[in-house]
Parts: sequence; C-alpha cells; structure tokens
Amino acid sequence: MSLILAIYGKGGIGKSTTSANLSAAMALKGAKVLQIGCDPKHDSTFPLTGHLQPTVIDVLDSVNFHLEDVSKEDVIRTGFAGVDTLESGGPPAGSGCGGYVVGETVKLLKEFGLYDKYDVIVFDVLGDVVCGGFSAPLNYADYGLIIACNDFDSIFAANRLCLAIAQKSQRHKVKLAGIIANRVDYEYGGGTSLLDQFAEKVGTKVIGRVPYHDLIRRSRLAGKTLFEMEGPGKEECTRPFEEMAEYLLAQPQATIPNPYHDRAIFEAIGGW
Ligand code: ADP
Ligand code: MG
Repeated sequence: MSLILAIYGKGGIGKSTTSANLSAAMALKGAKVLQIGCDPKHDSTFPLTGHLQPTVIDVLDSVNFHLEDVSKEDVIRTGFAGVDTLESGGPPAGSGCGGYVVGETVKLLKEFGLYDKYDVIVFDVLGDVVCGGFSAPLNYADYGLIIACNDFDSIFAANRLCLAIAQKSQRHKVKLAGIIANRVDYEYGGGTSLLDQFAEKVGTKVIGRVPYHDLIRRSRLAGKTLFEMEGPGKEECTRPFEEMAEYLLAQPQATIPNPYHDRAIFEAIGGW
C-alpha cells in the first residue's frame, strides 16, 4: 500500500516547488515515489526532470482515449533521485472536468499494475477547491497537505481546503496532515504568526517552514530540485524538506479540521 498525499494551496504559492522537493527528500530517504501533477499548467514535475513532459490527456487524445494503447513509458518519466513523475494535464479550458482527468490517470496506473507499487504517491493539485472535480485527489489520498503563506488570501484558500477535507472525510479516509508554510519571511512578512493561529483554531499544525529564498526561485528556473542546487542558504532551504519527509514517512498525526464558515474567516482574522 502506498502512502498517498494530496497537496493543495492557492495559485502560485509554491505547491509544485514544495511537491517536487518533498518527493525528492522522501526518495533520498529510500522511498519509491511517484509525483502526479494535476494542474493544467503541467509543470509540477519540471524541477524533478528538467523538462515539460507529455500529459496523460495529450497521450490519451493521441490514441482516441483507448487506455489499452498507452504504455507506461508514454506517460511516466523518472527524475531526480529515482522519483517517477507523471502529468495528468487538464481538461480543455472552459469545458470538461478536472476530476475526470485525475480519474483516468488513476485508472491508467491501475492498468499498468503500478498504483500500489509505490511507497509514496504525491498528487500536486490546484489553487482552490472550486468544484468537486478539483477535489477528486482527496478521494484517493490518505493525507491532505496545505501550502500557505502568512497572508489573508492564502489563509482564506487554506480554510476552504479545510472545508473540502472535512467534507470528504465523511465518506473517504482522508485527513489533514498539516499546513506547510512557504515563503516564510521573518523580517518583512511576519514569519508564520497568522498561520500558526489559523492552524491552532482549525485543529491542525504547521509542519514545516520554508524560507522565502532566492535559491528556491532560481531552482525553478534551472529545472532542478534544491538538493541539486549550489549556493548560500542551501542547508536552510533543504532542511525543512528533510524534516517534513521524515515526519510524513513515519505516518503523521493527522486530524479532521474544524474550519471557519467562508464569511466568518474574514472577521476572525482581523482580530488576530
Ligand atoms: P504553484 O505550484 O503553487 O502554482 P510554484 O511552485 O510553481 O507554485 O511557485 C511559483 C513561483 O514561486 C515559482 O517561480 C517558484 O520558484 C517561486 N517560489 C515558490 N516558493 C518559493 C520560495 N520559498 N522562495 C522563493 N521563490 C519561491
Ligand atoms: Mg504548480
């Protein structure tokens, strides 16, 4: 049985950066990891492989959606530290459903006999859970993880993700393993003060703090994980991923969150 993680957070917050470095950190600790990008932007696995790969939907389209005509070499590339990577791709803009795309990807992995062959599967999902389709990975996941920074908008999105996880947990096994603080800036950004309060109020915790750092920005441009980068601050940037990898591989203490009503979060946060 694989440990299945679903990573969410508002757009541009650092989901793909975090997913790729977390996958790499878990692989460096000996786990066989598969990372699945579930964003139409299909760049989730770029830091692991250094290139943009064909998506499941593109490949399926080329064989008229005959699953049996697709081989695993068509869609899976092995990247840094032996992490297998796959991009599900997105439905056509303005039509189709993200849930369908994720469902087809899981079907394909089962067809290959691979779905339960990994120690860890990481789903790198999307900004906000705006509809059932985008929450589909929560149907498969053991744990949801939320990436956020110390501002209102990412906490608003985090609260909505907590609502989705609480809702899904009524019918599925998914729980929230915690919040990953990204772009942490103690000098100008307030550190993680708001995030720590939010986590406590909804019944979860901040499990890692990743600094706002130029090495991380540059790693994205280079198509590399932080473990392959050189330069000042490397240890500061890689350590949180090593610690989180250890925590997640040892079965985290997860909870079913107790989030705010969409409107109540606006008032609550003003008083913190
Ligand atoms: P998402 O997947 O949530 O859309 P990305 O992981 O693609 O976000 O990150 C968006 C951009 O922000 C990328 O260019 C990335 O390099 C940069 N970035 C993410 N986290 C950090 C960080 N901690 N410090 C500096 N830049 C970051
Ligand atoms: Mg992304």
